[in-house]
Amino acid sequence: MQHKHFNNNWKGGKTKHQKGYVYIRNADHPRASNGYVFEHRLIMEQHIGRYLTENEVVHHKNGVRDDNRIQNLELCSHVEHISMHHKMDEDAIQKVIELYNTMSITKISQLIQYTTKQVNAIALAHGLKRDRYDKPTDTEEILQLFKSGLSLRKIAAIKSLSHIAIRNRIIRKIGMDAYISIAIGQGKHREYTV
Ligand SMILES: [Zn+2]
Repeated sequence: MQHKHFNNNWKGGKTKHQKGYVYIRNADHPRASNGYVFEHRLIMEQHIGRYLTENEVVHHKNGVRDDNRIQNLELCSHVEHISMHHKMDEDAIQKVIELYNTMSITKISQLIQYTTKQVNAIALAHGLKRDRYDKPTDTEEILQLFKSGLSLRKIAAIKSLSHIAIRNRIIRKIGMDAYISIAIGQGKHREYTV
């Protein structure tokens, strides 16, 4: 342990696990792996005053894996832990379904403590479409592209939305009559009307 004082890479003996957990240097720990143990387990052990058994799991209540405040940690068995996460996932899925068309993916991901990738995966698995969510700057850009004569499919490709979503946004923004009159003015009424 004394070599830490001479090691330029010494960062208080903490390192981030690739899954987001914090590892802490503790070479003397009976379950140390390469001299490191999970910080959340160590904090729980200090809290209860004994080593954890192999069947004991330390759960992060708010889902944030590096939030190792004791009030965020909960000791449970493997079986309890699985059902806790199942419940968390169910809640998160409900939240995504509820919020999907009301705010940005980033906001939703922050709210439920999932990554944007996970939010998108939930959306995909549940057939959610963002057609009803209009980000004002996007809609303005879509309208400009539409007025410049670009096809719905080209705009759809640019904005990563379906051409139906593009058409619906334009109609919501300027109304059906204006939409059709622009489309006809561009000689594309066949493509633009349903
Ligand atoms: Zn957990």
